[in-house]
Amino acid sequence: MRAQPEASHFIDGAYVDDPTGAAFECVYPATGEVIARLHAATPAIIERAVDSAARAQDHWAGWKPVERGRVLRRAADMIMARNRELSELETLDTGKPLQETLVADATSGAEALEFFGGIAPTINGETIPLGGGDFAYTKRVPLGVCVGIGAWNYPTQIACWKGAPALACGNAMIFKPSETTPLSALKVAEILLEAGAPAGLFNVVQGMGAVGAALVTHPGVAKVSLTGSVPTGQKVYAAAAAGMRHVTMELGGKSALIVFDDADLEDAVGGAMLGNFYSSGQVCSNGTRVFVQKGIRDEFLKRLVARTEAIRIGDPMDDGVQMGPLVSAAQHEKVLGYIAQGKAEGARCLCGGGVPRVQGFEGGFWVEPTVFAGVRDDMVIAREEIFGPVMSVLDFETEDEVIARANATEFGLAGGVFSRDLARAHRVVDRLEAGTLWINSYNLAPVEMPFGGSKMSGVGRENGRAAIEHYSELKSVYVGMGPVEAPY
Ligand code: NDP
Repeated sequence: MRAQPEASHFIDGAYVDDPTGAAFECVYPATGEVIARLHAATPAIIERAVDSAARAQDHWAGWKPVERGRVLRRAADMIMARNRELSELETLDTGKPLQETLVADATSGAEALEFFGGIAPTINGETIPLGGGDFAYTKRVPLGVCVGIGAWNYPTQIACWKGAPALACGNAMIFKPSETTPLSALKVAEILLEAGAPAGLFNVVQGMGAVGAALVTHPGVAKVSLTGSVPTGQKVYAAAAAGMRHVTMELGGKSALIVFDDADLEDAVGGAMLGNFYSSGQVCSNGTRVFVQKGIRDEFLKRLVARTEAIRIGDPMDDGVQMGPLVSAAQHEKVLGYIAQGKAEGARCLCGGGVPRVQGFEGGFWVEPTVFAGVRDDMVIAREEIFGPVMSVLDFETEDEVIARANATEFGLAGGVFSRDLARAHRVVDRLEAGTLWINSYNLAPVEMPFGGSKMSGVGRENGRAAIEHYSELKSVYVGMGPVEAPY
């Protein structure tokens, strides 16, 4: 098998397995070939993961912050040095082309480790004067053992976006990847250990939803950070609430990308393509409802179709290929179902809409990049998250109209505006109900910028200094300097 890891889980600094756990296979999405066989974590594996994480966390929290930061920054350097090998593994795990994984997966994970490694020594509290010589001070303290649960679209990135701030704050992390993409988080665990993290500080356990659910309710767990769909988020949030655990929820979206008449046409088309076709459309923040003002619509569609038809689909390991398959047979079927539904509801399919024949990769989960025009707000393809390369283009006339329509969704993850009128662009993003917004750009998520959703799309923020608040809590200490004035 092409990518078989030494064992399924990485716990307490070593690969471990328990063959009594449910067996599952990891499939290369470009061919359908099985590339690894693993076992889901059993209760015994989960106990080992939580015990060793608790021990490591106790030790790690006592380290000098600057030393903690150094470990993370060393891990970042090691990831960058091994980028090619890690990107190839990510491509096998997800099917995303090397052209993407080389620049957006391990590298993005390394940047998170570097950023939070740098921030680690600056995580501190404040002193609050209270009069009469009394004062209070606050400390930012770690939460304890944190659980990270990942989706399958960015396995390395998600492991690092959760692990880096957690570790920087003095926590330990147990990460459960999606069973669809179990491989690359194991490499993150190996590298952190080699970079000097204590054994047990970053454990990886495999399994389906049940393993995630067992971790979420484990009494030894203080926090859960999930990247996944809204229905899973609701379950995890509710389960975490029973133990009053902290949560971060990075969930799905149906974001609006608004193109005004005065936009730079090529930039707007490029932004819409990035926001719909990158990672074969399997990106939570995608701007899948592209609202185009009527004056620019025909020209926009013409350029969009021409550029979409030129996308190179094929062998993900070929550096020149721009689009790979979808991640799994199930996702393939789901996305084709949405395309059929779009056609049946009367949207005009301007290009794509089918399964391309990719020679030598007939068993892969391919879908052509697809553009629908004439989409109405009430169509299923304009309301539900598709998570595939399917763009819906909708017409609009006025600013007020498009803002109302953009906000008429339960989701609130992201949004974007293309316009040369910057006053208007700022005014519009101000009124869009979403956590992450772009002006004349789309889907860039640098680690310096907080990322996350509002409404049903999530709770909390990843990245930026904001993430620190979600992996630590304040301890307030009142210091009395004078006599105690008790009234009795
Ligand atoms: P799912 O919600 O199906 O799964 C997410 C993770 O949760 C998986 O690891 C899954 O395990 C696990 N899980 C499932 N059920 C439970 C449970 N009851 N308790 C604990 N864990 C559970 O999402 P997908 O993996 O299908 O990913 C796609 C979704 O993720 C999309 O909706 C997308 O929008 C969202 N997403 C959000 C992002 C964001 O940052 N906002 C980024 C990327 C994706 P398993 O898969 O092994 O069953």
